[in-house]
Amino acid sequence: MSPEQTGRTRFVADRMLGTLCRYLRFMGYDIISANSLSPGNSSEDTLLIRIAHDEGRVLLTRDRDLASRAGPAGILITSDDVIGQVTQLRDAARIDPEIRMTRCSLCNTPLREASPVEIAHADYAPKDNTGFAFFFCPHCDKLYWNGSHGKNLTDRISRHLG
Ligand SMILES: [Zn+2]
Repeated sequence: MSPEQTGRTRFVADRMLGTLCRYLRFMGYDIISANSLSPGNSSEDTLLIRIAHDEGRVLLTRDRDLASRAGPAGILITSDDVIGQVTQLRDAARIDPEIRMTRCSLCNTPLREASPVEIAHADYAPKDNTGFAFFFCPHCDKLYWNGSHGKNLTDRISRHLG
């Protein structure tokens, strides 16, 4: 699995879309969350638009005004529910909703392969780890593996999207 896939759409999302951010990161998408910016910035909308334009990101927002201010770079997310949100982006051909264990869902950092020591030190890792592939976020010191993190989400998405 390559940690970074070039040519894939990158996103920036407003504060209403924290759950969607985590889902998109599980799918390998590079997405900046407004939640990672300093709070209380009165011109946050302007900042989000600038990030979208400067970095070539698609701006996802629940705010109609912000979406229209962003112009072609903006997408108004219409659903409150994360599955509805994923469905909207899939139907607009913006994402391919498939789990790829390539990016930390918490901080957006690309994952790398975990070392045996990192696997051994994570007390939340499966005790019998045969058949799992392990990945590591060097920023959060968090271990990921395909089999649990991936599977529930994959099941949930495929159930809903058919
Ligand atoms: Zn992380």
